[in-house]
Formats: sequence, structure tokens, C-alpha cells
Amino acid sequence: MNIAVLGAQYGDEGKGKIVDLLTPHFSIVARYQGGHNAGHTVYVSGRKFVLHLIPSGILHEGVTCIIGNGVVVDPQALFAEIDELAGLGIDVGDRLLISDKAHLILPYHRELDILSEARRGERKIGTTSRGIGPAYEDKIGRRGVRVCDLTDRQALADEVRENVQARNQIIKDSTLDWRAVYDELLIQGERLRRWAGDVSLFLDRARRDGRRIMFEGAQGTMLDIDHGSYPYVTSSNASIGGVCTGLGVPPRAIGGVLGVAKAYLTRVGEGPMPTELFGELGHRLRESGQEYGASTGRPRRCGWYDAVAVRYAVRVNGIDAIALTKLDVLDGLETIDICTGYLVNGAPVDELPADIAAAGDIVPVYETWPGWSAPTKGVTRFEALPVEARRYVARLEEVSGVPVGLISTGSDRAETIIREDQPLAAWLR
Ligand code: GDP
Repeated sequence: MNIAVLGAQYGDEGKGKIVDLLTPHFSIVARYQGGHNAGHTVYVSGRKFVLHLIPSGILHEGVTCIIGNGVVVDPQALFAEIDELAGLGIDVGDRLLISDKAHLILPYHRELDILSEARRGERKIGTTSRGIGPAYEDKIGRRGVRVCDLTDRQALADEVRENVQARNQIIKDSTLDWRAVYDELLIQGERLRRWAGDVSLFLDRARRDGRRIMFEGAQGTMLDIDHGSYPYVTSSNASIGGVCTGLGVPPRAIGGVLGVAKAYLTRVGEGPMPTELFGELGHRLRESGQEYGASTGRPRRCGWYDAVAVRYAVRVNGIDAIALTKLDVLDGLETIDICTGYLVNGAPVDELPADIAAAGDIVPVYETWPGWSAPTKGVTRFEALPVEARRYVARLEEVSGVPVGLISTGSDRAETIIREDQPLAAWLR
């Protein structure tokens, strides 16, 4: 069965480990949105390695990795990743396929990103400043440059000239020469060519041949451009719809949906986060969870598990099971709160407000559960968890409206509980 693995919170849920762990059950891993702002931390021979663009499936021999049309590709960042992998002795070879319809991030997109954040001042989004937003803007504005556009020299020259001239009018004192951008693109196009192709067709054939596909999401549902906490969102569909539009596959291609959620909550950048903890507790979660951005090193905002947000993610994505990560980070806490609802401007609310960023004053409603004193770190069987931890997980299932199929109790692959009686285990058989 093909499954989608996506973030059920605000990103950084620990999808990297889950995808890496499940990869041996699949022969294809396909990314459908985002850019090199994603950051999956993986360990190769004890060395920490952060993959931004190429699916971490590349570390598994024989697995084909796909970058779909819904992804925006910075060729420089892509080549840097390919070269770094080569330095580790991993040859990307023919195991990488990039959609010829994927849009490119061009040198001036980054500049525009920084400029747009500076303009917003206090209202800044907190983007990673990698040019991803502006690249998607050009895509929607129908002036983007796609991988396949690199082969038609005349059309490319016209497009790049017009775009650069328009950008030079926006960016004060910019003297960017379109020819330099164009020449660079031609060189990059030469190198990209061997990996470019028709992703939709490839995946269709793969499905007919019975090859199993994992659809890998970046960021999380609450950062989705349509369904997230707009405008504090990323510029793509991180939620389930992105699989179809970002790869050219039909909904029926998706057999199961695994939502990844932390046992607490984090958020990077600006925007609403009702369960945010500011004092000692927030600090405690940040330090024991090592909550610093994999891509940017920025400290993450930390808080309690927000079941309102996860219920929403379950609804929007049709999540069948949750992979609950970082349970061990809660080890040693005397009590643990779960947010089960909100008071919005004083009125009790069960469902996420349609526009959470504009909903007004949101106060979380908490239940307080006892913590556990014995560690969960490294535990591999559900029954071996302290009883309080089992109760905590059971309560998260109830308030989130979905079973927990997998529990991660540490960053290592082995530090994982796969629950045999829950959907995920059946999908993998
Ligand atoms: P992603 O982008 O969703 O993969 O999230 P990140 O890469 O930002 O966060 C994952 C980080 O947490 C990595 O350093 C992982 O090794 C680590 N991690 C993943 N699962 C667990 C877990 O269950 N417990 C602990 N302590 N760390 C974990």
C-alpha cells in the first residue's frame, strides 16, 4: 500500500526519522511540495546530516527518490546536496527523478524574500529567506522558470530578461544582469538534465508494477498555504491535497495517511500558538527536545500538545493514524497538560477557528495529567512504557480522534514502538 506521511502540527514533528524508519517498506519516496527550507536530520555512520531537498530515502540502497512538480528547486542547493552525499560515498545516480515541471528558485528570489520580510516589519512571517515564497509567487503569476524550460534557449532568454528587468525595478540599486542569470541557468540545466523527467508517468507505471510509494510531506498542516494559520504559513500545500497536485497522482493512489505529531508542540517563526509556554517549562522542553531549527538553527517556540490543532489536521488530511514523536522529551515532568479546547474571546470552542490568526484572544483549555518518573527513552514496546505514559498516549488518541500507530522514544531508529494492533503495522505487512 502507498502511504502519505505528513506533519499534523506546525512542522518539525520529527518526520525525518519516521520517513527514514519506514523507507525499507517502500521502493519509492516522493516529495510533493516545499523547497530546501525543509530540514530532515538523519545520521549516517554516526555523522549528523541534514537533507533539505532530496528525500532521505536516498540513504537507502535501491530506493528511488522523487522531487515532484509541486516542489520548488534551487539548483545550487540541489547540487550541493548531491555533492555532499557523494562525499559520504552515496551516489545519487539514477535513483533521483525531478519533475520537469518543477519550478526553479532563481538568484533574485532570495533577495526578494529578504526584502518582503523587511517590508512587513513587525508583521514579518519568519520565513527561512531561501527564496521559496517568491518562487511560488512567480509560479502562480505564470512567469516562473521550470526545469523543462531550460532546454528552450530563446524562450528562456526572453523569460529571464523580462523577469530580471522587472525585479531590478523593485529591488533598489539592483544591477543584476539577466545574462549572468541566463548563462548560469544554462550550465545548471546541463547538469539537471539527467535527473529530469515525467514524474506523473513514472509513478503511474510504478503503481502498475506494484512498487510501493511513500508520499513525503514537508512542514506541517498548520503551515499549509490554504489550511494553515494564514498568513503565517509556508507557500505550498503541505496537507494531503498537495500529494495529488504536486506529483500528478490521483487520490486513489494514497492508501493510508500517517500524521506525524510531537507529544508536545513546537513552532518556528511568527504566528499564533495558543499553547506556547514562555517560562521555565518552555525552556525545559526546548533544551531537552533540542528544539532548534534544523535548517536555520532558530530556537523553536515550545508548548503543550494542542489537540484542537491535531483534530483539525486529522479532519483536513483524513489521517488514519498518528506517529507520536519525542515522548521521551516529557520524561521527568511532574505533570503534563493537554489542550483539549479553546476559549475564543471568552467563548468555549472545540474546533480550530477558520482564521486562527484573526480569531482574537485564544486561551487554551487544559487537562492536567500526571507525568512519569521512569524513563520512556529507548522503550520499544508499548507495554513497557510507564503506566502514566500509556495513559497519556491513550488520552491523546481520545482527544485527537485518531489511533497512535507508532511512538518514537528517541532519535535512533531502534528507539521506536510500532503498535501491532493499530493501522500502521497492518499497512507495512
Ligand atoms: P522533521 O523536519 O519533521 O524531520 O523534524 P526535525 O528534523 O526538525 O526534528 C527531528 C529532530 O528530533 C532530529 O534531531 C531527530 O533526531 C530528533 N528526534 C526525532 N524523534 C525523536 C524522539 O522520539 N525523541 C527524541 N529525543 N528526539 C527525536
